Amino acid sequence: MSAPEPDGTPGGVWSTGVRRTRDGALAVAGADLREVAAEHGTPAYVLDEDDLRTRARAFAEAFASAFSPERGLAGADVYYAGKAFLSVAVARWVHEEGLGVDTATGGELAVALRAGVPGAVIGLHGNNKSDEELTAAVRHGVGRIVVDSLSEIDRVAALAAAAGVRAPVMVRVTTGVHAGGHEFIATAHEDQKFGLSLTSGAARKAVDEILAADSLELVGLHSHIGSQILDLAGFEAAARAVLTLRADVARTTGRLMPEVDLGGGYGIRYTAADAVPPAPREIAERLATIVGDRCADLGTAPPKVSIEPGRSVVGPAGLTLYRVGTVKDVALDGGAARTYVSVDGGMSDNIRPALYGAAYTAALANRRSDADLVSARVVGKHCESGDIVVRDVALPADVRDGDLLAVPATGAYGRSMASTYNLMPRPPVLAVRDGRTRAIVRRESLDDLLALDTEA
Ligand SMILES: *Cc1c(COP(=O)(O)O)cnc(C)c1O
Repeated sequence: MSAPEPDGTPGGVWSTGVRRTRDGALAVAGADLREVAAEHGTPAYVLDEDDLRTRARAFAEAFASAFSPERGLAGADVYYAGKAFLSVAVARWVHEEGLGVDTATGGELAVALRAGVPGAVIGLHGNNKSDEELTAAVRHGVGRIVVDSLSEIDRVAALAAAAGVRAPVMVRVTTGVHAGGHEFIATAHEDQKFGLSLTSGAARKAVDEILAADSLELVGLHSHIGSQILDLAGFEAAARAVLTLRADVARTTGRLMPEVDLGGGYGIRYTAADAVPPAPREIAERLATIVGDRCADLGTAPPKVSIEPGRSVVGPAGLTLYRVGTVKDVALDGGAARTYVSVDGGMSDNIRPALYGAAYTAALANRRSDADLVSARVVGKHCESGDIVVRDVALPADVRDGDLLAVPATGAYGRSMASTYNLMPRPPVLAVRDGRTRAIVRRESLDDLLALDTEA
């Protein structure tokens, strides 16, 4: 399978600003990738700023409109899940487009704060938050600390009391709905580390404990069912479950929680074989219908709804630009051959193929070729045979040392999961807008790596 040509559509595998130049190179938002590589080096992550902003804005607008009070609902907020990729520039962009920022560690929180995102529109997640992280959240007025265990409740309550504030908290509920890819399975028992189970009564216990704590304000319930989800049925099932718990709590305590967060996990297209994901408008309409109908059935006023997309905002906006080095034909059993195309990065800049068996595609970025296509595998330069960037892709048979290769849809969980394995400095993140390229995260240097080693 060869890479689909960029066509400017939001449902494509390339960001909407990617085009072929007249002489056959790829350009992102008017920046020729040959020039980008010459100026900034390779490997590099290249982010299409307008594409990212447009995706962020599409979520904000779709949810504001679908959940509007005119339609009998109580509004909606969108939080960008920073773990997908966070830098000061990206936090600013999504905030400018009307999103809050969802963080999961003190590091992500520090970046959002440095970007000037107000604490009130930042969330803090985590199944094992440190005292330092919770203290920072309380001190900076984080708008929602998402409680993930019963023991965390006392810790947040004590820190808030000591600071003389009421800390806003949500309860992370595991609904029994697991989703990912095209399937979801409802299970009674939750054999994983996140959240408080609905069926065991742990979620309800957390709610009651928070309601009894003077220094805590219960903002609502939170559900996040998985990632890379293309079928909306799992979100609908989870929404129904948390709305039911909310109504139960209201019935027995008289307290109707103002918010429900339905998490992130909306899937994107990595290769032409992936289905075109639902657009933000469709997601928002489907969820608004479920929330409206369910609340009507339960006889409760609808909550304000929030969501936390990460991958679907930043993933399609990014590509990774590599330089080709060694090209090797390897004979396979049965007489066929595979062309191994080695690039100057690998599992240190994209761990997802090794970690999840994730599929990607790749295309020549410096030229067009009319050569026949060969069955190729794009591999990195690390000391592992599992160091695969693209397992199967059709590339022109004349692919050679010095060519540029672009791998689309690497904006999410690429740089954010990057390592310095083999002491490879991590690539920069380059933002392109209106033909202008700038590094928003600079390339790591050997000096950066050596600076951590305390022996002279
Ligand atoms: C990972 C995560 C997200 C974002 O998931 P995406 O697949 O990137 O949209 C949102 N919320 C929580 C709690 C998460 O853990």
